[in-house]
Amino acid sequence: MLWQGRRESDNVEDARGSGGGGRLVLGGGIGTVVLVVLYLLLGGDPQALFNSQQAQLPQTAQYDSQAPRDEASKFVAVVLADTEDAWNEIFRQMGREYQEPRLVLFTDMIQSGCGFASGATGPFYCPQDRRVYIDLGFFRELQQRLGAGGDFAEAYVIAHEVGHHVQNLLGISDRVQAMRRRVSEAEYNQLSVRLELQADFLAGVWARYADRTKHVVEAGDIEEAIRAANAVGDDRLQSRSRGYVVPDSFTHGTSEQRVRWFRRGYETGDVSQGDTFNTREL
Ligand SMILES: [Zn+2]
Repeated sequence: MLWQGRRESDNVEDARGSGGGGRLVLGGGIGTVVLVVLYLLLGGDPQALFNSQQAQLPQTAQYDSQAPRDEASKFVAVVLADTEDAWNEIFRQMGREYQEPRLVLFTDMIQSGCGFASGATGPFYCPQDRRVYIDLGFFRELQQRLGAGGDFAEAYVIAHEVGHHVQNLLGISDRVQAMRRRVSEAEYNQLSVRLELQADFLAGVWARYADRTKHVVEAGDIEEAIRAANAVGDDRLQSRSRGYVVPDSFTHGTSEQRVRWFRRGYETGDVSQGDTFNTREL
């Protein structure tokens, strides 16, 4: 993928290292335990405590988005900028305004607007704080353990998470969430799979747009992305460890389905072709 020397997004927050998420989480963790014990001793309902604590958690930027960037974070910032260019334009064409998400880089553990997450969770999007969370260790794992490395594979993962942000802005995630109480667990899982496959489709739409406007795709890149989609399908990831946040990896559909929807997005470049909710064949 050709990415050097291109625009970097201002929306990347770097929470890696000792000054970032790790310390924040440790402090919060121990403090929380002490508080819960005290509260229980006083006969309180710990859930109420958690709720009030949640409400006080900072939901806005607390990390330096101006920190000097290394190669890995530069790459992430360029890909995020690519998704901004693509979705700003596509939303304009739909007569809407795109609101850019922020992206948090972290190591080990992080407190997100959706709860604690560890690197084992994998990348995820939190609709509450409209942030994409990426532990760069996941990319190493993609390379070393799943055999799906390469810069375009990483770009695909970021574009998939941004796809969830797009679904959030379009109200699709809310509609799925609203169904949760009305359908069985099996039916809800089916809806989640369709949501995930649509995020893959939207990643494909991004790849098409980025290639058309910036010629960023090199020979082998699309195969790289497809290998990544393949590697992180829930049939491959089912047995992996769980984080505290609902992992963005367990309800993704089969590898074959993911590849099909990514490819459809890439080949059509047309958002209206991505209605995974009203199709018989996934
Ligand atoms: Zn996803």
